[in-house]
Amino acid sequence: MIVAKLIQYDIMCAHITIRLLLMATSIFAKQVLTSSGWQENVAIHVDDEGYISAISKSQSGEDHRVGILLPALSNLHSHSFQRAMAGLAEKRGSNPIDDFWTWRKVMYRFLEILKPHDVEAIAAQVQMEMLESGYASSAEFHYLHHDHNGAHYDNVAELSERLFQASLSTGIGYTHLPVLYMHGGLDKRKLQGGQLRFGCNIDEYQTLHSQLSQGMKRLPKDFVLGVAPHSLRAVSKEALLIANNLDKTTPMHIHIAEQQIEVNEVMNALNKRPVRWLLDNFDVDKRWCLIHATHMDETEVLDLAKSGAVAGLCPITEANLGDGIFDANKFLQAGGRFGLGSDSNVKIALSEELRMLEVSQRLRDQRRVVLSSDDMPSNGRYIYERAATGGAQALGRNAGRIEVGALADLVALDDEHYSIAGLSKDIVLDTWIFACGDELVSHVWAAGRHVVSDGAHIRHNEITNQFKQTMQRLRKEL
Ligand code: ZN
Repeated sequence: MIVAKLIQYDIMCAHITIRLLLMATSIFAKQVLTSSGWQENVAIHVDDEGYISAISKSQSGEDHRVGILLPALSNLHSHSFQRAMAGLAEKRGSNPIDDFWTWRKVMYRFLEILKPHDVEAIAAQVQMEMLESGYASSAEFHYLHHDHNGAHYDNVAELSERLFQASLSTGIGYTHLPVLYMHGGLDKRKLQGGQLRFGCNIDEYQTLHSQLSQGMKRLPKDFVLGVAPHSLRAVSKEALLIANNLDKTTPMHIHIAEQQIEVNEVMNALNKRPVRWLLDNFDVDKRWCLIHATHMDETEVLDLAKSGAVAGLCPITEANLGDGIFDANKFLQAGGRFGLGSDSNVKIALSEELRMLEVSQRLRDQRRVVLSSDDMPSNGRYIYERAATGGAQALGRNAGRIEVGALADLVALDDEHYSIAGLSKDIVLDTWIFACGDELVSHVWAAGRHVVSDGAHIRHNEITNQFKQTMQRLRKEL
């Protein structure tokens, strides 16, 4: 019998009350990738708090029937508002050689025109696309705090609460990472132009964090609040120490070494490469997620792997921005943990994100099937399982594996789809990642919330219509 429990969340900013339906449920799958390997003809039982309560042999008779069931991935890095500029920065800027910094100019132009309701509509679209792509949760690296020219909203958490609102409407598992952004470079130059919307001094940041931490109590239990100093460029060592001590139990994310120019700037100012400086000055451990640890020397690779921290990789965005290639082969061989993020959201595509990670290694090393091991020759399964557990760790989320006691973050693939019909076990993952797109995704549960059904989000049309209206207005104003 289905026990339905209606939970009502009053979001702190508003007037709007969102209802999410949580219910105990059971899912029958012909093939399930559990934490102890593949199992066939199994029922996954989910309790009304969204956790897996039992895994049992079954023949059918459950609430839902699916073909292939996998632990769903967590998307560990997103700046959702950047989805609105996808495709608009693909022409060369005024420099003879176009680079990251001309892309950033387009991003700052966008910041001139974004209003709170735009931020919410764009975030809902992004989260919906993530869910339809097979992710069950997302971490938002949220640095857009203020209005134009840095004017403060009456409510310091206005834009953070827009992100919560979007998350409640999509039902995604959500980790909010309010960003501390203090200055425009290591020389502590003042923020200017679009950056004024990001700025907080440490006192303002502590006020924001404390308000958000109160507000979290009224949100779903799987929502998490973390801490995110933007980068070594934008935050002083003293402030980084304070941020690190705000709450020692929650995730701590930082952009670290995305661009060679950034590495040079840190070396000039701090006499060390960015990852080396961070490892030498902080107890970097499993709470930490280093976003774009792209540029590391060999000892940085080995020491970051030993630390237990997660390397936050965003292969599609990093390729789009010409960042460089992360040395995943050495890092994983040394026991390093990683997860995936869609960062700029120029394209949200889970299987392509995984494929890009592997093929970048193949192109650099002129070989095939790089990320695998003697125990796990399947390239797809090797990277998928690691991305699942590393991503969940980075979000502070008890997920990333199918076992009793974990959150029911689950993705089902359509085993009747012509691309994988008749295939089983690891080769399904290899085929999805290297030969297909996310059209194979049929259902997604986020902490037991059934948010994608038969390939579409349960509020697909409503969210997309809102996004379309928002984009038509923004594109006119650009
Ligand atoms: Zn980022």
